[in-house]
Amino acid sequence: MGYLVGIDLGGTKIHTALAAKSGEILEERVLPTLAEEGEVAVLQRIIRSVQEVVLPRGISREEILAIGVGAPGLIDQREGIIRTAANLPFEEFPLAKAIQKVFPVPVKVENDGNAALLGEYHLGERKFTKNLVYITVSTGVGGAAMVDGKLLLGAGGGAFEIGHMPLVPDSNVLCGCGQYGHVESYVSGTGIRKAMERALVSGENSSLSLETPFGTREIHQAALSGDALSKSILEDAFSYLGMTISQVLTLLNPEVVILGGGVSSIGDMFLEKVKSTAEQYTLPLLYNAAEIRLSSFKERTGVVGAVAVALEEVQKRASAK
Ligand SMILES: [Zn+2]
Repeated sequence: MGYLVGIDLGGTKIHTALAAKSGEILEERVLPTLAEEGEVAVLQRIIRSVQEVVLPRGISREEILAIGVGAPGLIDQREGIIRTAANLPFEEFPLAKAIQKVFPVPVKVENDGNAALLGEYHLGERKFTKNLVYITVSTGVGGAAMVDGKLLLGAGGGAFEIGHMPLVPDSNVLCGCGQYGHVESYVSGTGIRKAMERALVSGENSSLSLETPFGTREIHQAALSGDALSKSILEDAFSYLGMTISQVLTLLNPEVVILGGGVSSIGDMFLEKVKSTAEQYTLPLLYNAAEIRLSSFKERTGVVGAVAVALEEVQKRASAK
């Protein structure tokens, strides 16, 4: 009997799971990342999180078939190196080798967007769909695409940086990357909050005010209670995402587009606006070919994705033999 381990390495938490060979999750642990303590401390917590999911079942190191890691930022997938990642203390850090010193098994490190897509591909409700797009809308906007059963990586592993596609010309809205008018600066949770702040500063009427901190959740609540400004700001963001998806449908002709992340958990109001806008801008043949749907994994997207990274590594090694 062999097992898989998935590690969802985030800026605030390390979410680790032990899974059966099929991908079914058996044990989970969440530890704080505490990135400010530096790379050695964070690495130790990563190792501890693996030990804590393995020990309760009395599983030996030899029974672990592979460890998959999903991490934010720029990843060298081949060498298992985190090149750079916002909110993590790792710079050109050989994470796979560091984990292998303690657990001498195959370790695969993948960008978290690609990991989430692999989670949908191997374990989701539309699994084994070979033309699949995953988009996450939370603090930022990210994602991944699979075309004809192959993950789209590009020359340097940076393909499908969807949050940083230009969207609005001559924009004065600054993106987290330092450029202007990108998808993320209009569509993400941060973008939505900043749009509301700009509207309030310019004197527009709302039940929200600059004195009380708010995020997408509060803006959504206000919209549900009849606040017209909140509703229009959300609709603007969702229609921008619909336009972005229209570009994706036009470029890649996917069968499924799966939407995850905190903002998409708004649910029906989000999905309806995104779909109607995408339909408005897309050739009917391409729009009708794709199902646009919400991910069912929600806050477990990251860890399910990391397990799928391990699963895929085991399958690759088996087919290479
Ligand atoms: Zn950007």
